[in-house]
Amino acid sequence: MAIEHIEKSIIEQAFERGLVKPNPPGERTGKKVAVIGSGPAGLAAAAQLNRAGHLVTVFERKNRIGGLLRYGIPDFKLEKNVIDRRLAVMEAEGIKFQTNANVGENISVDLLKKDFDAICLCGGSTIPRDLNIPGRELNGVHFAMEFLEQNNRRVAGDKINPAEEIMATGKHVIVIGGGDTGSDCVGTSNRHRAESITQIELLSKPPDSRAEETPWPLWPMMLRTSSSHEEGADRFWAVLTKSFHGDADGNVKSLKVVDIAWTTDQITGRSGFKEVEGTERDLPCDLALLAIGYLHPQHTGLLDKLGIEYDERGNVKANNYQTNIENIFSAGDMRRGQSLVVWAISEGREAARAIDIFLMGKSTLEGKAVSPLAIEE
Ligand SMILES: Cc1cc2nc3c(=O)[nH]c(=O)nc-3n(C[C@H](O)[C@H](O)[C@H](O)COP(=O)(O)OP(=O)(O)OC[C@H]3O[C@@H](n4cnc5c(N)ncnc54)[C@H](O)[C@@H]3O)c2cc1C
Repeated sequence: MAIEHIEKSIIEQAFERGLVKPNPPGERTGKKVAVIGSGPAGLAAAAQLNRAGHLVTVFERKNRIGGLLRYGIPDFKLEKNVIDRRLAVMEAEGIKFQTNANVGENISVDLLKKDFDAICLCGGSTIPRDLNIPGRELNGVHFAMEFLEQNNRRVAGDKINPAEEIMATGKHVIVIGGGDTGSDCVGTSNRHRAESITQIELLSKPPDSRAEETPWPLWPMMLRTSSSHEEGADRFWAVLTKSFHGDADGNVKSLKVVDIAWTTDQITGRSGFKEVEGTERDLPCDLALLAIGYLHPQHTGLLDKLGIEYDERGNVKANNYQTNIENIFSAGDMRRGQSLVVWAISEGREAARAIDIFLMGKSTLEGKAVSPLAIEE
């Protein structure tokens, strides 16, 4: 029984028994904080800042609140009523939400700076890594999030323009990338009733059980098989994508791949790979989904207009969540780079505490370093 399951069971029981009730702060500080982005980092920051008595507005450029919880992770992994019931509590506690509010585009950053005492940037890591191989421009080659976001909208009841529909139904689907996003593409393609689903990964197949190099409490380096994989997909590791090939109408029809062998240089310790001779082959492909990660947050618009500095990976640079601008903080994937929901929540809470101290000189909010259960990073 994992801690995750215990926690889920506790909160489900609590909602079922009506124990999760709005708990607005007793007093307001009169300070106003803008949270940009409504993913788990933004929501966690907003909840804590509101608890500290600040007036919080969450700005979200999409038409619904939730970030990747809403539009990345499919319903079969996270039912959206889980987000909605929490949002109802947060609203009743006094947090304001503004959707279709693209800060830096239809909401001016100057107005925001004037109206708020502090800003918390939680815009996520949104620039996907591309696959620059011949044929990338063919119809039917998409970033995973184009496919997943559209499907989440479809499931939520939105009308999708037929000309823009991305469906896996009856198609040979190739998912490129072996992580969570790739697994969600597999599960969604199965629900669309794809003809075949193949997931390929550049890295070697991880061991079936925890590798010796990653003992507890490190994140275990091991093969992960999700329910999406169990529903059906061919999985291949150590495969390099070479080129997409299409028909006369510009539709993708196949993907040329080759097996690779990973090597480690004995002197430098650097790893590299060699193509395995005689393994080049064409996989049938009517829909290719690129799930190979994210580079960094979007710089144009919000961040560049604010004059935010970046770290060497292009993420928002921050010291204890505070950016190069005194009253602007950042948390979640936007600061940390592409990561996990638990990290986004943790960062949002920690950033809220840092903002509270900035505004009030002290904070009674919980923090990792001040908790009796302090976690070393
Ligand atoms: C398909 C997929 C599956 C995943 N599955 C898992 C999983 O199973 N488990 C797990 O732990 N993690 C998973 N992750 C990772 C996890 O979802 C992210 O790490 C997490 O959501 C990051 O939270 P965040 O709040 O930092 O950013 P996000 O969730 O990305 O939210 C950022 C929000 O900011 C908004 N925004 C950006 N710029 C602006 C602006 N200028 N104005 C207004 N709003 C703006 C965006 O529209 C977005 O809603 C998955 C990711 C993907 C893509």
